[in-house]
Amino acid sequence: MTGGGSARYAEVVLPVPVSRAYTYQVPDALADRVVPGARVVVPVRRGSVVGIVNAIRDQLSAIRDIKPISAAPDEQPALTPALLQLGHWMSDYYGAPLGLALRAILPGPLWSVARPAGPGEASERVLALTQRVESLLERERVFKRAPKRRVAYEAVEALGGSAPIRHLTDQLKLSNTVINGLVTQGLARIDRHTETRDPFAALSSPPPASLTADQQRVVAATQNAAADTPVLIQGVTGSGKTLVYLDLLRGVVASGQGAILLVPEIALTPQTVARVRGVFGDQVAVLHSGLSDGERADAWRALRRGERRVAVGPRSAVFAPVQRLGAIVVDEEHDPSYKQGSAPRYHARDAAVERARLEGGARVILGSATPSLETLDLTRRGRVVRLTLPERVGARPLPPVDVIDLKTAPRVPEAGAIPWTEALDGAVGGALQRGEQVILLLNRRGFATFVQCPACGHVPGCPQCAIALTVHQTPAAMRCHYCGHEEPVPEICAICGHATQRLRGLGTQQLEHFVAARFPAARIARMDLDTTSTKWSHHHILERVARGEVDILLGTQMIAKGLDFPNVTVVGVVDADTGLHFPDFRAAERTFQLVAQVAGRAGRGPKGGRVYVQTRSPDHHAIQAAAAHSMEAFAEAELPHRTPPNPLYPPSVGLVRFVVSGREQGRTAAIAERVAAWLRRAGTERLEGALTVLGPAPCPITRLKGLWRWHVLVKAAEARALGRVVRAWRAKSHRAVTVDRDPVSLL
Ligand SMILES: [Zn+2]
Ligand SMILES: [Zn+2]
Repeated sequence: MTGGGSARYAEVVLPVPVSRAYTYQVPDALADRVVPGARVVVPVRRGSVVGIVNAIRDQLSAIRDIKPISAAPDEQPALTPALLQLGHWMSDYYGAPLGLALRAILPGPLWSVARPAGPGEASERVLALTQRVESLLERERVFKRAPKRRVAYEAVEALGGSAPIRHLTDQLKLSNTVINGLVTQGLARIDRHTETRDPFAALSSPPPASLTADQQRVVAATQNAAADTPVLIQGVTGSGKTLVYLDLLRGVVASGQGAILLVPEIALTPQTVARVRGVFGDQVAVLHSGLSDGERADAWRALRRGERRVAVGPRSAVFAPVQRLGAIVVDEEHDPSYKQGSAPRYHARDAAVERARLEGGARVILGSATPSLETLDLTRRGRVVRLTLPERVGARPLPPVDVIDLKTAPRVPEAGAIPWTEALDGAVGGALQRGEQVILLLNRRGFATFVQCPACGHVPGCPQCAIALTVHQTPAAMRCHYCGHEEPVPEICAICGHATQRLRGLGTQQLEHFVAARFPAARIARMDLDTTSTKWSHHHILERVARGEVDILLGTQMIAKGLDFPNVTVVGVVDADTGLHFPDFRAAERTFQLVAQVAGRAGRGPKGGRVYVQTRSPDHHAIQAAAAHSMEAFAEAELPHRTPPNPLYPPSVGLVRFVVSGREQGRTAAIAERVAAWLRRAGTERLEGALTVLGPAPCPITRLKGLWRWHVLVKAAEARALGRVVRAWRAKSHRAVTVDRDPVSLL
């Protein structure tokens, strides 16, 4: 480098799984733009990449061989100080390399080095009148030989003096000749305006009805709560939580602030968007996985510039660059889709709480009919304020739930291996005859076989981990997927002595075949991952249900959420047991949530409704609490299962999962052994025995995409101990091992 004086250097983080930042020199010409949080284009060994400036350093003596930053495409830094800090928090809390944490915060198109400025902004041509032709007489003179020009002039005049040319030609069928004629006559000019591509621009519902007394009470209590304490709105299905959110957000936006509304991806339907747009109109930016790169970049830029103030979207919308952020709503806060499946494995609810803190007092509002036990635990400890909406709108009753015991209830003989009782059969047949609709829910297909006694319903579990043991063929044994414990497959039940039975869940296709044969006149729609892979496809299926073109909707957990069809009078949970005996400590919680949510789909109209739950474990607390629509009953029964003398699980401890995957089984298991040994050593030598290490054991899903999978679980009451462990591991950056703090799935 030539010249004297001080040189400035930037610490740049690249979007790669590396923990350290790279140093680049800041050219004088870019000094104004190269600030913390800014995107920069920097040279790397082969070509160049987009990175984020983490810090600026002044140094008196020049460092040798430091390359200069090539470009800084943005006038304003892409990341505000709060979002840059949120990246650091994710990196530290989840043990993810900072580069990956920052990569998650900015949308994909903004990392493209080919177009570092992002996809070009679309612009549109607008015709603007430049001269007024006041009197009728003058009008007749000016347009004497051009009556069509007069039509065009008056159309634009009626639109307020300017209009997009595309609108004039496409909608009003005016020709370009006529439009150009107005320009040559000096009556108008053509301007170029940047336009925001918004595929949702046409959606809007009428503004919502006024709030019920209950809803008003919750709105007022939320507004009166301390802004730095998150609020949980626990409202039964059909209690109108969305109206409460919209009302709260209206207050936030009216005060000049911005807001984020997070919804599970599956619930981000055109109806949801229309309801939000019905209140906020063009202030809304929708962030959806189905957007094109250009649409995504436009939505991001409109928020960053403050042109739009309300962001709606799934998990990643927690990073939306909303200016003057006043509130974040996390709807269905218990939903597992809020957890990111790859590094940084953040939970959007927890990231929302952290972001609100960093933004200086933005409010967090969580909502659910079936909150997670983690959130309920925080309400008990006073860290979250809990408000309830105990009744459905219009005091409509929650539907009665019949629990049908599959061990004893008479079955339809034609059903064969499919658990189909006469009670459910009669209910479905009756609804069809009356022209009403039916929802049939099947848990996700079991991938693991478990053993159950057909007489008493007992399922053998691991003595150390209290999760169901699963059956393996080679060698024939029952195995615990947390700690690796093994025991022989029992031929008779340990409780009652009856011969045992091996069970595995039923698939939705199998059920569809049977139901179609059983009710040949019924129009059936199936909704699962196979039928909903394309954009909006689940929405199209639901639209058919809403229009009455479907008699029976059957599917997996997807159908449990947010549907509101007044003509659905029968909801059947065909086999609750698969979910109940998943090898996961949250199996009961997930089953409770699923049954309670799907039960909430029945009886939303004046005809009422009834729910049928088929199970071999009718006395299980998850089934009983769901049948009573009682979150409180469930929490009271479930929490003792996760506290001493039982094996500890969240929320009484924090949990981190280390997953090792590899092509060779032996090598994968050996790495898992070394990870477990490292953790045990760290626990005893440096953390005074604060860690409990389980495993290694094969993951319940033992092979995935050709890779063998093993895992090790670490529990600790002290969050700090787990933080130290994940950060120490981050420094090692072992490629075959992924770290998942606060995992929502242990499969
Ligand atoms: Zn038994
Ligand atoms: Zn175990």
